[in-house]
Amino acid sequence: ARRRLTAPREKNTMSRRTLTLDDRLYRYLLDHSLREHPEQTALREATRTHPRAGMQISPEQGQLMALLVKLIGARRCIEIGVFTGCSALAVALALPEEGRLLACDVSDESTSVGRPFWDRAGVAQKIELVLAPALATLDARLAAGETGAYDFAFIDADKASYDGYYERCLQVVRAGGLIAIDNVLWSGRVAGESTDEDTVALQQLNRKPHGDERVDLSLLPIGDGLTLARRRG
Ligand code: CA
Repeated sequence: ARRRLTAPREKNTMSRRTLTLDDRLYRYLLDHSLREHPEQTALREATRTHPRAGMQISPEQGQLMALLVKLIGARRCIEIGVFTGCSALAVALALPEEGRLLACDVSDESTSVGRPFWDRAGVAQKIELVLAPALATLDARLAAGETGAYDFAFIDADKASYDGYYERCLQVVRAGGLIAIDNVLWSGRVAGESTDEDTVALQQLNRKPHGDERVDLSLLPIGDGLTLARRRG
């Protein structure tokens, strides 16, 4: 008989694929890892009653993004799609004192929810909120010579424009910088037959970084799916 050179195959497949988190296990994950500034907890609570509350990122995703910002030593970040400002708060708290976040959104109403929390957390001075279509904001920054000027970008806005955001982020983010793209699993709909406009836009977007030699890539099943694309040199 052939000598076994590898460990016996496990009886289940859990180690070879990502776990499905039921409520109990998800609670355990949060109980054993979540660290939030009190203002983050308060802002999440304040967002819970917002009509579009489902748009806020999950708390463990905010913590992951904060960790990534620190890992790459980011100083200049961009957020496309602020909503009530939970992710902006997570990123701003992770930035050094001189760090800056360019926060792009079109809604004064939803971003106004977050501003008092940014203030009370002591990071408002790090956040430059620009209320205008993000494509125009990014084009203006590129025209102003900010090519490669940013370390980290988070894309979490209208899905129809995701490709435009991704292409511009590849210009404003430096080599070795990171682009994070939210909602890429879209509650699972990207794997189905839906012809809904947002689903199709996400399906097209997901095909792009996969074959894109300009980036290193990982798609994480955290929150609603988060693609991490590191710009190659
Ligand atoms: Ca989102």
